[in-house]
Amino acid sequence: MKEKCDRTKCPFLDSPFPDCYCSQMSSQVTDKVIKFCGGNYEECNIYKKYWVNPEASPSVLSF
Ligand code: SF4
Repeated sequence: MKEKCDRTKCPFLDSPFPDCYCSQMSSQVTDKVIKFCGGNYEECNIYKKYWVNPEASPSVLSF
């Protein structure tokens, strides 16, 4: 029996950025959490922004 593979989950999901959909408890982003965070994270614009430049965190940009 194959073990469940976690490679479909976003690597940022355990420590999401403040602007991540999963950091926002709003029904307006629920679809995006399901679509991106739990699956197609490589298509997520937030993922692309931080994957290219992980130091682009909003906390860094606020200086
Ligand atoms: S998929 Fe996007 S919104 Fe979700 S944790 Fe990853 S970077 Fe954040």
